[in-house]
Amino acid sequence: MRLDREQSLELDAADGLRGWRERFVLPQSADGRELVYLCGHSLGAQPVRAADCVEEVMRDWRTLGVDGHFAGDHPWTRYQERVAPALARLAGAQEHEVVAMNTLSVNLHLLLVSFYRPAAGRKAILIEKDAFPSDRHAVQSQLHFHGLDPRRDLVEIAPREGESDLRTEDVVVTIEREGPRIATILLPGVQYLTGQSLDIAAITQAGHRAGCTVGFDLAHAIGNVELELHEHEVDFAAWCNYKYLNGGPGCIAGAFVHERHGRRTDLPRLAGWWGNDLETRFEMGPEFRPIPGAQGWQPGNPPILAMAPLVASLEHFAAVGLPALRRKSLALTGYLEALVRERLRGQVTILTPADPGQRGAMLSLELRCGRDRARAAFETLLARGIVPDWREPGVIRAAPVPFYNSFEDAWRFVDALAATLA
Ligand SMILES: *Cc1c(COP(=O)(O)O)cnc(C)c1O
Repeated sequence: MRLDREQSLELDAADGLRGWRERFVLPQSADGRELVYLCGHSLGAQPVRAADCVEEVMRDWRTLGVDGHFAGDHPWTRYQERVAPALARLAGAQEHEVVAMNTLSVNLHLLLVSFYRPAAGRKAILIEKDAFPSDRHAVQSQLHFHGLDPRRDLVEIAPREGESDLRTEDVVVTIEREGPRIATILLPGVQYLTGQSLDIAAITQAGHRAGCTVGFDLAHAIGNVELELHEHEVDFAAWCNYKYLNGGPGCIAGAFVHERHGRRTDLPRLAGWWGNDLETRFEMGPEFRPIPGAQGWQPGNPPILAMAPLVASLEHFAAVGLPALRRKSLALTGYLEALVRERLRGQVTILTPADPGQRGAMLSLELRCGRDRARAAFETLLARGIVPDWREPGVIRAAPVPFYNSFEDAWRFVDALAATLA
């Protein structure tokens, strides 16, 4: 490979999805230059059409008032139907297994209330040592809630000494060894710091063989890698919709409950009126009749304004299809990796697995020059209009997102980082 700028432009010219970039508004510098935005793993770019979708809700509210719940082109009581089918496709789920509600951390709690049921002898939760803080806090507070002690009942799994990614075989062995005392397993679909994509099927199978319930946090996975939650018999999952799904800051989140559990009445849940069947919801009776499926877990009515931008983004996902996006993503991230290996040899360690099947769009680069020089290099990138993000103690994360990033973006990022480190 030549790996020069010309080549990146040729790759862009040959990219069948390049036209989709125009359907997103990419962030700009103070002086109006378009930035090289590589932070779709943290907050996806704004779909151009998002503003129209929000304005539509504002208009219905202005003109219809309370009637907007039942009238207008998209009544708010049924607004869920604008997003759930597309979310179900992205999750590899049936429609009734998916709901848009709350935020991710709240959904983790709601699902743990139902699916983490400690019993005599089987009390523990398995997570990863490097879990995202919110997931760790959620799990630890659930343990406290049940009167348990995280020092005893939290089982953590870590990569081997000197390695940055989890080996599936190690996860499976841990589940087999500790299984009898583990009630629930909560792991990421794609790890937020390293970008490793975990083997959901193998982990779920191992968990079920050991008698555990198995859930996944898909914050970095949904819209990034292909998922088959139904087929793989995952018990529950939750995710946010503002990363690869471009739903905007504070966007409503998603949750999945496998159909095996969707109608169960023995599971405790933190219920509310919006989880009640629409048929009888507004009769305002004292009895709770849950909607069969994931929608039965909704406590209250959803924030329609925080859902509207997601409609725009999901229309784009439906039009292109995740398989086509994933194909481009594999090429784009593979190209980024080749550039890093060639131009930054010896200067960075790639924490993300080299196997494309074990990662999504993002690469995590650990700079080897020491924390302060690494931080200075990151600041220089920002000053040059290149926007990856930073994680202590010296990791730069960069995600070329197939919807709106180009091969040239990848080239400019690596070229700027090489110049900065030189
Ligand atoms: C982004 C992210 C969150 C954020 O949770 P919110 O409830 O949306 O604030 C939580 N967990 C993981 C793993 C994430 O990547």
